[in-house]
Amino acid sequence: VFDHVVRAPEDPILGVTVAYNKDPSPNKLNLGVGAYRTEEGKPLVLNVVRKAEQMLVNDRSRVKEYLPIVGLADFNKLSAKLILGTDSPAIQDNRVTTVQCLSGTGSLRVGAEFLARHYHQHTIYIPQPTWGNHVKIFGLAGLAVKTYHYYDPATRGLNFKGLLEDLGSAPSGAIVLLHACAHNPTGVDPTAQEWEQIRKLMRSKALLPFFDSAYQGFASGNLDADAQSIRMFVRDGGECLVAQSYAKNMGLYGERVGALSMVCRSADVASRVESQLKLVIRPMYSSPPIHGASIVATILKDRAMFQEWEVELKAMADRIISMRKQLFDALRSRGTPGDWSHIIKQIGMFTFTGLNSAQVAFMTKEYHIYLTSDGRISMAGLSSRTVPHLADAIHAAVTK
Ligand code: PMP
Repeated sequence: VFDHVVRAPEDPILGVTVAYNKDPSPNKLNLGVGAYRTEEGKPLVLNVVRKAEQMLVNDRSRVKEYLPIVGLADFNKLSAKLILGTDSPAIQDNRVTTVQCLSGTGSLRVGAEFLARHYHQHTIYIPQPTWGNHVKIFGLAGLAVKTYHYYDPATRGLNFKGLLEDLGSAPSGAIVLLHACAHNPTGVDPTAQEWEQIRKLMRSKALLPFFDSAYQGFASGNLDADAQSIRMFVRDGGECLVAQSYAKNMGLYGERVGALSMVCRSADVASRVESQLKLVIRPMYSSPPIHGASIVATILKDRAMFQEWEVELKAMADRIISMRKQLFDALRSRGTPGDWSHIIKQIGMFTFTGLNSAQVAFMTKEYHIYLTSDGRISMAGLSSRTVPHLADAIHAAVTK
């Protein structure tokens, strides 16, 4: 009965790693993965995470009972504070409902399912380009997906004019997906002034902000600074949704730990919204897993552990910033044609190099360097040892 099933194409991002794994070359380099690597090219488990896990294991009173549908209460409370700020007026007014979800992806999906059922507008605008999964997450939840201009290939920066025009002509009430910081794949973020203009425009048209926060702390190394865009929208008293992921900033990728917060107009609305979120979650996966959320809650509620996390997070962010500088210097010292300053200007885990798909294919074939065909490289996958190899490859690709 399944003979008719056609083979689906490989996921364009995960497919890069599949190809990398098949390559026998000792010089191969995977810059496709969106996961942090150490200078030695190894995955990193934070010390503070190991410590939290040890504490959880040692605590014999802990059991493996089901969590409630909305997840671990402490985790939800602390996650809302982390993203909205400890002094957030919306939290003080009990206008925020937070539910634990399966990392960033699950949080986006639960939010999308809620909006498809309970929000009057079913059109969502996502940036062009954006993380590839956004289109599928929102489309499959039943929303109509449209794009707004975001990136300007000429400047390798923000197409702010195009963005304002597109949002300005969006129908009143439309949903707008915003990357809170460290836009994936471009590494291009609006400035604080530009955010303010976006906020004013969106509020004047009653556009509903849905923030995707997958990189809090990873962009600047500072958790509060990386949440400023969201807090601007919360400060004005209006509604918004926020999908939070602990994959990158706590290195909890495979634990699938994240949260969806919905900021509402009143405590009463927030509690009704939460009751409906439960109806979304229950038939999908019943309740979320306990381990990852317990790690996060352990770290967030202990002052010393929180500070330890901040130090380790900043070290990851700083290493990425240093890779940007080293790659930029390596291209400059080779006299590689072109302006490569966007490498140091862009923010977060990725650089949108501007290399085209033919150049990417050349680099993969001749240099065994793996990246997505849009020219996005994961700076976290680089090290001082591999920067010269990448610079040689880029130089050869643009001068061939
Ligand atoms: N949003 C963006 C922009 C991302 O880059 C990612 C991870 N690549 C996610 C959401 C979701 O990640 P996860 O589900 O692993 O938290």
